This record gives sequence, C-alpha cells and structure tokens, in this order.
Amino acid sequence: MVTGLTPEEVSAYAESVAHAEAGRTVPLALGTPRRGKPPLHWADLDAAQRADEIAALGLPKFRVNQLTRHLFDRLEADPSGWTDIPKVEREVLAARFAPSLLERVRDQSADGGTTVKTLWRLHDGSLVESVLMRYGVPGVRASGSGRERATVCISSQAGCGMACPFCATGQGGLQRNLSTGEILAQVVDAARRLRDGEVPGGPGRINNIVFMGMGEPMANYTAVLRAVRTMVAPAPEGLGISARGITISTVGLVPQIQRLTAEGLPVTLAVSLHAPDDELRDELCPINTRWNAREVVNAARGYFETTGRRVSIEYALIRDVNDQAWRADALADLLGGTGYGWVHVNLIPLNPTPGSRWTASRRSDEDAFVRRLEARGVAVTVRDTRGREIDGACGQLAAQGA
Ligand code: SAH
Repeated sequence: MVTGLTPEEVSAYAESVAHAEAGRTVPLALGTPRRGKPPLHWADLDAAQRADEIAALGLPKFRVNQLTRHLFDRLEADPSGWTDIPKVEREVLAARFAPSLLERVRDQSADGGTTVKTLWRLHDGSLVESVLMRYGVPGVRASGSGRERATVCISSQAGCGMACPFCATGQGGLQRNLSTGEILAQVVDAARRLRDGEVPGGPGRINNIVFMGMGEPMANYTAVLRAVRTMVAPAPEGLGISARGITISTVGLVPQIQRLTAEGLPVTLAVSLHAPDDELRDELCPINTRWNAREVVNAARGYFETTGRRVSIEYALIRDVNDQAWRADALADLLGGTGYGWVHVNLIPLNPTPGSRWTASRRSDEDAFVRRLEARGVAVTVRDTRGREIDGACGQLAAQGA
C-alpha cells in the first residue's frame, strides 16, 4: 500500500479511507484554515518586491534578473550552478529566496512511463500530488496518438473545501492554500524532468498546464494568478508557456470567474458543471447552493465574450445519476440561447472513489448522451482516463489517502 510515508501519515491515510468507506461526506468549507506559512520563495514576489528585497540586502540590481533566470529559465535550484553570482551571495540568495518547498515522497508511473504521478510533502507535512502526462511519444503506444505533447496537472490547495461527494480530494476536506512558490515548483519540476529527458520520448517541453489536481484554484486566486504570470512570462523572466495552454478549472466561484475575465490573460477556463439542474447540482457540487448552474453558466459565457476563449464545461458522467438523455437535453438548453460557439463540453467517465456508491456510466448511456448533445450542435468530447491504475486520473488525487 503506501510507501514512503511516516506512521502518522499512514494513519491519516487509513482514517481518510475509513471516512470515505463509511459514505460520509464533508461539509462545504469556504474559509481557509490557517496553518504555518510556507517559507518565502522568489516566486511569491512581484517585480517591485524583488527589487526591494535585493536592494535591502545591499546587492546590485542585476541580481534580480540573474536569480529569476536561474530559477525559472534555467530551472537550476542548486546555487552552485549560479556561476555568474559570487559564491557568498549565492548562499545568501538561496537561503532567503529559493528554499526547497516540495519534498518528493514518491513517483508512480503508468502508460509506459509517460504518465508520472508525484506525491509531494510540504514544509508542514501537508501532502499534494501532481501528474505529468506525455502524449504521442513515438514507440510508446500507451502514450496515445497525435503530435508529441506534454501536460502537467497541478494542485492549488492541499485538500479542497468544495466537498463534491464524488471527488476523492473533496472528501478529505481542506488543509490549506498552496503558496505561489509551491504551485510553481510543481511545474518547474515537470519542466526540468522533461528537459533532462527523464520521461520516455527524449528531451521535451511542457505544452499544457491544467489546474485539475487537488484544490479549487479560484479559492486561492491570488497565489494561482501570480503563479500563472510566471508560467506565461517569456524566458528569461518566466517559463514561457503559452497562456492558451493553461487551463484553470473551477467548480464555479462566480465572483472569481468574473475577476479572471478582467485579467486580460487568455488562459482557458474550465467549469465543472456535472448537472444542468440545481436540484442535482446542489448535491454533486454543494457550492451550487451559493451560485447556481445558471449563474455559473452566465459567468462562463461572459468569460468567452470578453476573452474570445472557448470555455470548457466539465461533466463527469455518473451512472443513473446525471447521465439520462433528458439531462443531456437540459444541458444543451442551459448552454444555449446565444448558440454554442462559446463552449465545449468535456465528458469525464467517473473515476469511482473508494467506498463511493457511484460508478461510471454504461457505455450505451455515454454514447446516447454524446449523440444528444451533438444533435443539438454542441461540441463534445469524452476525456481519456490516463493514469487510472495509479489513481492519477481526474478526481482521484487524495494525497492523504492515495
Ligand atoms: N476544483 C476544480 C478542480 C477539480 S479536479 C474544479 O472543480 O474544477 C478537475 C476535474 O475533475 C473537475 O471537473 C472535477 O469535478 C473532476 N472530478 C473530480 N472527481 C472526479 C471523479 N471521481 N471522476 C471524474 N472526474 C472527477
């Protein structure tokens, strides 16, 4: 079962499984419990703060760009490699701005080594996971077809407060928000592994980043946006990843969707809808009692109208719960009105979580659901389920228990 964990972590694991198996659900938690703050990292600071910090240390201004380049362009966390900075200064800068934030507990791989899930321990013992998926790797059939590309799925919180009953993370409750440094470090690690050829397929780059790991990114808005800004900043200031390749997935925090709309960042917005009707959505996504399906869809459409970016609607198909043909029609009704050019529906076969009474839809119901949407002119795809056997697939990240 679990390897690389302390006895306390193993018992937390057992507890969370028992909790899930008892079929208990956790209450919705909007506040964020305060825990020890993670150590400050260069990624947490904006340009002005970086300049101030370097000035306060009495160091020359150009150290700002040097340090930024080492960390986010060269992906070099080890100060001994910062050879354009005097040795004594390297130590000072590393200690103050580049502490190691993520400790690798273990890696699990699947799909011929092209899917790698990593369990990380944070400074306070919280556990989070990220998943690196490489597609279209020549010679590795399990990596799928199409052009070669790499996606990293990252966590924005340790746990999650949104309490969706079908999601393993949601059932564990929220521990805390991740800092910008902790969010970015997951990406930096994946970028470095790809660059160094540690994933089958030879040296490569990240094409896509999806905030579909643990947590509700919109509930940790500031840290998430700051991390995104460094991801999209061109080298040498940032990782140079296209904003279009970054997907922020939300359960539907309407004010934050509106805030993102105003950022002027062409990231992709994904909204986890899972039901077109409030009666069922109240159950599947308890936050629906605060912002209902119609309000969420309107905010999502507003995102498209302002940014021109097509919104992805996530819908986990759950057998006999939300997969009826009439619900496909209701979904089309809800999304329509001004046509369907603004939206793409992404159906996810449910990944059952331990002890859950729910399971994935029958193939015939899934096909009928797809056909119904297509008949209405809605763009729809069914998500592939990479990394299933290592619990790396959607909604299965539950580091306390994985
Ligand atoms: N909090 C964000 C990110 C969650 S994970 C959000 O709600 O969008 C990304 C996607 O996986 C979400 O659409 C989520 O609803 C879905 N998901 C969660 N648990 C799942 C499960 N057991 N099977 C399939 N998809 C699941």
